[in-house]
Amino acid sequence: MLDLAYENPKPKVIAGAKGDWELVIGLEVHAQVATSAKLFSGASTKFGAEPNSNVAFVDAGMPGMLPVINEGCVSQAVRTGLGLNAEINLFSAFDRKNYFYPDLPQGYQISQLYHPIVGEGEVLVEMGNGQARLVRIERIHLEQDAGKSIHDMDPNMSFVDLNRTGVALMEIVSRPDVRGPEEAAAFVGKLRQILRYLGTCDGNMQNGNMRADVNVSVCKPGDYEKYQATQDFSHLGTRCEIKNMNSMRFIQAAIMVEANRQIAILEDGGSVDQETRLYDADKNETRSMRSKEEAHDYRYFPCPDLLPLEIEQSWVDDIKADLPELPDAKKARFISDFKLSDYDASVLTAEAENAAYFEEVANGNDGKLAANWVINELFGRLKKDDDKGISESPVNPAQLAGIISLITKGDISGKIAKDLFEIVYTEGGDPSEIVEARGMKQVTDTGAIESAVDKIIAENPAQVEKAKANLKLAGWFVGQVMKATGGKANPKAVNEIVAKKLAE
Ligand code: ADP
Ligand code: MG
Repeated sequence: MLDLAYENPKPKVIAGAKGDWELVIGLEVHAQVATSAKLFSGASTKFGAEPNSNVAFVDAGMPGMLPVINEGCVSQAVRTGLGLNAEINLFSAFDRKNYFYPDLPQGYQISQLYHPIVGEGEVLVEMGNGQARLVRIERIHLEQDAGKSIHDMDPNMSFVDLNRTGVALMEIVSRPDVRGPEEAAAFVGKLRQILRYLGTCDGNMQNGNMRADVNVSVCKPGDYEKYQATQDFSHLGTRCEIKNMNSMRFIQAAIMVEANRQIAILEDGGSVDQETRLYDADKNETRSMRSKEEAHDYRYFPCPDLLPLEIEQSWVDDIKADLPELPDAKKARFISDFKLSDYDASVLTAEAENAAYFEEVANGNDGKLAANWVINELFGRLKKDDDKGISESPVNPAQLAGIISLITKGDISGKIAKDLFEIVYTEGGDPSEIVEARGMKQVTDTGAIESAVDKIIAENPAQVEKAKANLKLAGWFVGQVMKATGGKANPKAVNEIVAKKLAE
């Protein structure tokens, strides 16, 4: 585990009519494994393909077909487990989860109920201001996704698209360690970030490649501490599970309405039924999907078509040796190596690509200055330019590093640097050549600055009198000199010379 100093955030407290309540949340995140083929067939996983074009016989549940495990999916699950500091189970096994649904032609989903491939891990969820929660991961298992039923294309018919049937999912199950809506969203965000760093899931929530079932319960202050001390769930309230959330904003809204619904029931003397609910964003309410009594009896049993999955420690070690530097470690290194603030380091490490870009710019340059330029100028400019990503940036790291080193050497002022940045952004080219060719170099020659100052002083005797009486007015002269030199005079030198002349 990383040794980062942090304080636990306070749990979200909701004031009910009869007293305070605290939130307890556990999440089950389904992440689509980034691979080109499905979990047990060679069919493609490409998003947006013609309906029913990515379907092998085994995905379509044809009789007599046998599933064959895709090694790539297994290594991605192991990689994910290692990235979450989790225990890797060298022995795991697949089970059938039986139910009928038109988009599930096999009549069962192959999952891992009893022996998941990944055991206990952890995720550090930072909430800013030095606050963070270490959320425990209970397990990660591999399972098949179902297909898609389409009910809104025709008034009289429903359609089925099996392209997604059999695509590999990792179900990442947290312990009920999350204590508020913002934390829940931050947890999903942190998982997404780590998975993207690892390259094991693209984290595209809009496409449903990452979605979360959110379990919510409420308890009285003090009860959660009892649960923590004993791990006895009876200290916690009954939970409801809100299915299939794929937006950070809706996750937060759903948690709050669900908690308030439960509090109203409890304060009214009732009890919460453990059930699966759906969130309706238009009405901002959760609705019962099925109660525990109606819950499916999935009749799980070990899948007879598949042998248990046994992997070698040496294979796991090879995957481990190949892990990239992960967000927490990278952020800590950026703070210590480049003297960045916590906030800047978070922004720069949000995506691995941004971090790599920054590092190229910062190497050999002042880290803080590089961070400012990447965050404020470059990200700001890309945002204005159709919200471009860093990979589409017309300014490459070497060019930006060039601009920054011109500032540090004193060749150009910060103001001219912004003009130069715009030129490089729109026209391209080598920054120092542009500065030479267009005469943008800062005037540090004190003689030249001195004569510019003398000229302004001679032309403005009234201002000179005022400035002598009130030194704060010296700024006006500095501004005039900067203007007269087209912003190219070294501001520090101008300030000094103006002060000296006014004191004469
Ligand atoms: P099941 O076997 O019914 O799916 P699990 O024990 O696997 O139940 O828990 C499913 C999810 O619900 C986990 O993420 C867990 O952290 C969460 N959870 C369990 N109890 C509570 C509770 N009282 N409040 C909130 N979340 C809970
Ligand atoms: Mg479960």
